[in-house]
Amino acid sequence: MSHYCPPLTPNAIRSRVSTGRFAFTELGLEKRCSTCGEYFPADTEFFYAQAYRPEGLSCGCKACQHESKIKSGRRKQ
Ligand SMILES: [Zn+2]
Repeated sequence: MSHYCPPLTPNAIRSRVSTGRFAFTELGLEKRCSTCGEYFPADTEFFYAQAYRPEGLSCGCKACQHESKIKSGRRKQ
């Protein structure tokens, strides 16, 4: 059960595209990772689901979030 339905309205998506946080490509809607600055498809395959965010996705891609988790985990030891 990993179906993701974007809760954003067309207007909300358009405003995010205009600020560069999202982009429309031939693959569909893509979201920019706030950490590495790369665009990835805006779904839970590339971003962690975060229900409290308006787009329902984490601001960093899974690869970057995974890396920061390893770094913060190291600090505990
Ligand atoms: Zn990233």
